[in-house]
Amino acid sequence: MPAELTFAAPRRAKPPRHLADLTPEERDTVVTELGEKPFRAKQIAKHYFGHLESDTAAMTDLPEASREKLGAALLPRLLTPLKHITCDNGMTRKTLWKAFDGVLFESVLMRYPDRITLCVSSQAGCGMNCPFCATGQNGLTRNLSTGEIVDQIVSVSRDLARGEVVGGPGRISNVVFMGMGEPLANYRRVLDSVRRMTDPVPGGLGISQRGVTVSTVGLVPAIEKLIAERLRVRLAVSLHAPDDELRDELVPVNNRWNVAEVLDAAWRYADVTGRRVSIEYALIRDINDQAWRADLLGELLAGNLVHVNLIPLNPTPGSKWTASRPEDEREFVRRLESHGVSVTIRDTRGQEIDGACGQLAAAER
Ligand code: SAH
Repeated sequence: MPAELTFAAPRRAKPPRHLADLTPEERDTVVTELGEKPFRAKQIAKHYFGHLESDTAAMTDLPEASREKLGAALLPRLLTPLKHITCDNGMTRKTLWKAFDGVLFESVLMRYPDRITLCVSSQAGCGMNCPFCATGQNGLTRNLSTGEIVDQIVSVSRDLARGEVVGGPGRISNVVFMGMGEPLANYRRVLDSVRRMTDPVPGGLGISQRGVTVSTVGLVPAIEKLIAERLRVRLAVSLHAPDDELRDELVPVNNRWNVAEVLDAAWRYADVTGRRVSIEYALIRDINDQAWRADLLGELLAGNLVHVNLIPLNPTPGSKWTASRPEDEREFVRRLESHGVSVTIRDTRGQEIDGACGQLAAAER
């Protein structure tokens, strides 16, 4: 019996409409309907995306009498940061957000010498039920709105710009959809959020598409849709096993789209976009880290535009699984390399604050 999967999010109250949910044209319409000049929409968008300002009271180029009305219509408060927790000498910071309906989710900021990456959530919870992932254990609460995804980035960008984060002022260069949720199960909103984060100011935040990574369990029809969008974002596929027998267990959606089908879609993605696909593989001691599985993985990947990210498993509470032995990890790398496959071991940022891969489980706390 395959484990239970949830594709459709439960029906719940919708987050309030926000500027970031709308295209520039839709913003103009909202503003016009309020009896304001359409160019006000662009002014507000410039404040929000360009200056990371969410409070219309501070937008002195708007008529004073209209500020409150415009703020209520376009910039309602979506997210309240409940707490920030840091580790790695302050270079990693996890934020717990509360949405308008009390729903909780997290994002994780990681500073590196050459880049600043924000790992964002696309859903509160997740319906994909992977047994080694903390988020998967509590099921899917709801999809995040486009505004809720974008506002994670805007809020953290504001803290960074104001120098409120250890390491001094900075800008987010990379966004990875590796927080809570399966981004391709919330396709429309995730795609809109990618447009908002990558469109130039004032349409959006102006982050390079090449700096954005969409990570998926492998929802093949949604990967096909993504290919058709002709974006330059990176695709990451959470494979975790090269054989269907084991992947059926580790990534239950494999019962729907198997290893061959998922890799097929991945190669089409690489073909059309010219971008190397990332294969995510959490190394789990004595489960998926055997030398023969490394060889099988190497054979499947060899000759393709691909890079393997090995993630030492972050054990989740109550899990019977743990990370691989160092010698098995080394041998796994060696065998992949012997097939000519490029591979790196992901750093384990945020482990002690439960902010590392697969540890996000805000709803429990
Ligand atoms: N649903 C998406 C994105 C969320 S998780 C996906 O599955 O790709 C981001 C990555 O963390 C995925 O590759 C996921 O498989 C991995 N992951 C989940 N739990 C983990 C854990 N306990 N240890 C290491 N990696 C984990």
